[in-house]
Amino acid sequence: MVYRSIRRSPVVMIFALVLCNYAQTLSSAAAGPTVEALAAAARILIRNAALVLTMEPQVGIGPLGILETADVLFAGETIVAVGTGLQDADAVILDATGKIVLPGFVDVHNHLWQSLIRGCGTDKDLLDWLKECVFPMRGVGITEQEAYAAVRLSTLDLIATGVTTVVDDSHSFTPAFVAGNVRALQDSGLRFVYAYCGSTERFNDMRRVKTALIDSHPRATFQVCSHPGMGLLDWLTATSRLAQELHVTLNLHVNENIKQRQDEAFKAMQLAGAFDAKLLVNHAIHLTDEEIAQLAAHDVRVAHNPLSNMRLASGIIRLPEMRAAGIKVGLGLDGGTNDTSDAFANMRAAIGLQRVKSLAPHTFPTVIDVLRMGSLGGAEVLDMEHNIGSLIPGKKADLIILDPSHINFAPRWDWLSQIVFNGQPSNVAYVFVDGKPLKVAGRVVGGEQAEIVQAVEATAQRIKKALQAQK
Ligand SMILES: [Zn+2]
Repeated sequence: MVYRSIRRSPVVMIFALVLCNYAQTLSSAAAGPTVEALAAAARILIRNAALVLTMEPQVGIGPLGILETADVLFAGETIVAVGTGLQDADAVILDATGKIVLPGFVDVHNHLWQSLIRGCGTDKDLLDWLKECVFPMRGVGITEQEAYAAVRLSTLDLIATGVTTVVDDSHSFTPAFVAGNVRALQDSGLRFVYAYCGSTERFNDMRRVKTALIDSHPRATFQVCSHPGMGLLDWLTATSRLAQELHVTLNLHVNENIKQRQDEAFKAMQLAGAFDAKLLVNHAIHLTDEEIAQLAAHDVRVAHNPLSNMRLASGIIRLPEMRAAGIKVGLGLDGGTNDTSDAFANMRAAIGLQRVKSLAPHTFPTVIDVLRMGSLGGAEVLDMEHNIGSLIPGKKADLIILDPSHINFAPRWDWLSQIVFNGQPSNVAYVFVDGKPLKVAGRVVGGEQAEIVQAVEATAQRIKKALQAQK
């Protein structure tokens, strides 16, 4: 009875109304501009960020070029100013007080269709995992729509963790699969590289896809995918020539599992003329000193995938030796084998693997090294450092805003360390690619996410049944 009379008291009701209005004022101030306002804006001013990691030492403090209490202004897809006290009367203002701004992560190796097989072959090494989870996919006929949904799911997950550029090393099972795969990448809003894996009979389709779907797209780049081994020498030779004909990078998996040394990848690459092409090699774990020197001599780029290497018991890449040789290395999430698209966990693992091997906490990469490797370093691996990877005028507005006030991240001690050791996808508040918002106030943009999850769920169940029937 006492409770009821208090609830009905006019004084209490007025007080409650005032509180309610105050809460609304607070939430609208905290919410910032809407998705629609940011998407429509010709100019956006990110104002008063606690830290901006430009990644350019000449612009700010230390090797990551850090600015404190700083602003970033971009017009359309291009950064026009980075500094303190920027003003722009025409810009939509995004208040970043207490937040951290940095370039988006560059994921230099992934297989986006593999969201379909998350959790598959949990306790297998690479070769057994491929046998159980990947090779049988050729027989199940993944349709264009199914490929589309699977790749879209992966792209949403990448956006959530702050990836802005991804290399999708696609198994390209059929031309229909390729169509769905590429359309999903185009629709994602991400900057992307499509690495097409095709037999010699598919070379004309590869040329067509490059011309029709990739070259005409402002955020797309094409690569030719192949595999090095003496048993595949003819195909490796043909794909090396195709990559040179198209002036694109040849993308190879090299010595990921130690048993693959018997395939003699380096002998095959030499005989096939692969070193005459621009080369990106994934994993490159089990290498001799001579092989590391050979990669360096030919300016071969390396994609390091620490979470995947741990999951598949593949081994520990020789990162300090690669660095000493001057090899450019970026970080990759590597599709279904890591079971998560978490760029922060990936950076932690890159550091952790070298520390448990060397027992030396200062070994390469340090926190600063891995933050650079995950952004500007990845851009250099892809020859995109003139456009992306750091925050300076003239570069593309591919950037993310982290909120360090969450329970997994606060309090402030050493934020650079905390990005790597405490960061999670949930700390990524905003993601912009080409100046367009892909994540806003902690939510990935796009209303069709539930439908995508449903479609991938249905496909995964269909495929599991089809695989059972094959056994
Ligand atoms: Zn891979």
